[in-house]
Amino acid sequence: MSQLIIAIDGFSSTGKSTFAKLISKKLGIPYLDSGAMYRCVTLHSLENGIIDPVTHEIDQALLDGALAGGIAISWLPNPDTGLFDICLNGVNVEQRIRMLDVSDNVSPIATVPAVRNFVDAILHERGSQGCVMDGRDIGTAVFPDADIKIYMVADAAIRAQRRLDEMKAKGQDASFEEVLKNVQERDYIDSHREMNPLRKAVDAIELDNSHMTIDEQMIWFDGLLKGRFGDAVYASES
Ligand code: C5P
Repeated sequence: MSQLIIAIDGFSSTGKSTFAKLISKKLGIPYLDSGAMYRCVTLHSLENGIIDPVTHEIDQALLDGALAGGIAISWLPNPDTGLFDICLNGVNVEQRIRMLDVSDNVSPIATVPAVRNFVDAILHERGSQGCVMDGRDIGTAVFPDADIKIYMVADAAIRAQRRLDEMKAKGQDASFEEVLKNVQERDYIDSHREMNPLRKAVDAIELDNSHMTIDEQMIWFDGLLKGRFGDAVYASES
């Protein structure tokens, strides 16, 4: 199954990355977090005065300059998670990019076509040989021929609570209202932008996990995979 491309799209905090990481381990294919790449561009933009954190106004000339050579994204293996941490210009920013200032500015940055082209080029370079990838436009725009497309949805308040719990577990402070507002604003911008907005691909299968545990989601995924490829799907698993 090493050539399999699995696209998982959906709104913020629907649990896409938790689900995708487990699929990656189960099938032995790389996991690519496209949101993390948009977050890296956003962090760089905040640190270099490319985006105004209050008005979200973007200096397009500075951003173009950064995309042309000022932003290098790489990965470091993390022995604790068995996955890879993302690095921006050589610095491990896996935790930093999840903070609220980045979350508040990432959707405006992700509307910029040059940013989307920058991220898409990395995704194609790293994912074409097989991967599970999560984002907003993977099944519609990045890999429209993906073997499996899943569209994840969940109630906004449940998603905000999940994000808040994750942040608190990492010692980050925020109120439920702040996080809910951020989730709703990102939903709106992500689904209304001009280039590759978030939408369900016609051939995607919807998974509403508002009231599902991660174990239940994996059972659902097993059923989907076996239904599509038959019992032989796990034959090569060790
Ligand atoms: O998945 P995550 O919440 O980390 O994504 C952060 C933001 O990056 C999203 O709210 C969206 O604005 C942007 N994004 C995107 N297209 C993707 C992945 C993420 O526009 N494929």
